[in-house]
Amino acid sequence: TLPIKQPTSSSTAVTDLDDPNHPLHHHRRTVNDFEYGHALGEGSYSTVIAAKDKKTDKQYAIKKLDKAHIVKNDKVKYVMIERDALSRMNHLGIVKLYWTFRDNRSLYYVLDLAPNGELYSLIRRKAPFDMETTRFYAAELLLALEHIHDKGVVHRDIKPENILLDDNMHIKITDFGSAKFLEQDNKPVAGGTTGSSRSFVGTAEYVSPELLRSEPTLKEADWWAFGCVVFQMLSGKSPFKAATDYLIFQKIKNLEYEFPDAFPPVAKDLVQRLLVLAPEKRLGGEALGGVDAIKNHAFFQGFDWQQDIFKQTAPELA
Ligand code: ATP
Repeated sequence: TLPIKQPTSSSTAVTDLDDPNHPLHHHRRTVNDFEYGHALGEGSYSTVIAAKDKKTDKQYAIKKLDKAHIVKNDKVKYVMIERDALSRMNHLGIVKLYWTFRDNRSLYYVLDLAPNGELYSLIRRKAPFDMETTRFYAAELLLALEHIHDKGVVHRDIKPENILLDDNMHIKITDFGSAKFLEQDNKPVAGGTTGSSRSFVGTAEYVSPELLRSEPTLKEADWWAFGCVVFQMLSGKSPFKAATDYLIFQKIKNLEYEFPDAFPPVAKDLVQRLLVLAPEKRLGGEALGGVDAIKNHAFFQGFDWQQDIFKQTAPELA
């Protein structure tokens, strides 16, 4: 998803999109190396198509971006951030970017195929999830976020629409168009084309309160969104809903949300520690013990963090 309000960006030339020196932008694969299948979905600036590598028969999702359209709408910066952030990632819970190539009209990103749709649709069909399933998807999301943060990136648009499901119903996080790069100490990288720490990005319902207060959005912003997703899996809806973005922002700023009666108490405690207005007091933040403090919360009691959850069988929802 692209930012709801764009930060003022310096104009970026079309040539930036075509940088032949970028490591992923080489010619080991081209348009003709793939057999194209059905469309998987449409974005504002892209079409995602199922494709098969003719050499290996492996299936991919190819995201095709229209260069002229991107330049005309001043989205070059986001397209490049998505490519640069994705190319740092190497985790089963995150869509992998294998190659990029181009032709005269389009840029192509060759990605892991996630053929089972979005976690959003699964929630729409099956929520409320049972605790075992919620713990499973929360654990996968936590591990993928830990990897993203370890690679010096904040995702900034975590929501069920951006959590895809692979052929075995494991998660694959996607959509790094709102991402931001961090210094090693959870500080924003100064300058550059990585996006200001104060730029307004993401999706209204999952936006962190610090972003609404025009404070820097760091790793803790992703743990806020993580709390929203846990809430949503157990209740069927996101915590802060309203008719307009403005009203949603008011609710977030005032921490105005309610748990349904049947919400499991241990999950309620976790969500209450994640949906905390001050990022430094939010579970997952460095001051409170980082991601380990979430792993050690009673919500995950009995969960074996040593197992490779991505190799386990995903729970089947009734
Ligand atoms: P926008 O650009 O308007 O914010 P978006 O981020 O959803 O929308 P895309 O990333 O182009 O845009 O994705 C379009 C659709 O294609 C998505 O809604 C998703 O369902 C599907 N899709 C994206 N990536 C994959 C993938 N790797 N495997 C399977 N389907 C995918």
